[in-house]
Amino acid sequence: MRAEFPGFRLGNVLATSFTATLTERHGDAVERIPTPHRLVDWLAVNGLAVDSCTTAQLELARELRESIHAAATAAALQDALPASAVQVINDRSAQGRAAAILTPEGKLRWQLSSASRVEDALGVIAADAISIISGERDGKLALCASPTCRAAFFDTSRSRTRRWCDMNTCGNRQKKARFNAKQRKNSGSAE
Ligand SMILES: [Zn+2]
Repeated sequence: MRAEFPGFRLGNVLATSFTATLTERHGDAVERIPTPHRLVDWLAVNGLAVDSCTTAQLELARELRESIHAAATAAALQDALPASAVQVINDRSAQGRAAAILTPEGKLRWQLSSASRVEDALGVIAADAISIISGERDGKLALCASPTCRAAFFDTSRSRTRRWCDMNTCGNRQKKARFNAKQRKNSGSAE
């Protein structure tokens, strides 16, 4: 049954991995957390396992996701941050309860409150979004060059010249389109 749902696009930045649960926002949008259970799955693979999720909590998650997307897009364009998006991010951050845990291996792990609520997980995601939008972290917000995507991503490359949110999808498609266009030109009549 699970196979019917679109897979997840996982990156190494929590907040933008979360916004990537809706892809192709400017094309045929793909919703990757269509049900509460898929949000539970997504949180689990991102180290934020929760006990359960209601429809209302899924809506809360999507509201946060679109708020992060709006604020990160504005930040990438160096526009003023939309006030309503900032409010949602701050509310989710303030209402989540989670502790940063240092593992024996020296890694960061999030420990949600004993109730392991969706709200606690959203608090961690909101805090991650704040850390990248505020410029606290080493990297630069940018928008995917794919016209049907335009996802905000966090570029941590040394040169800060990354063009696509995801090399395996948007990047690859663009490369193929360029290749095909070149083929067409080469096989077309000389002008
Ligand atoms: Zn993209």
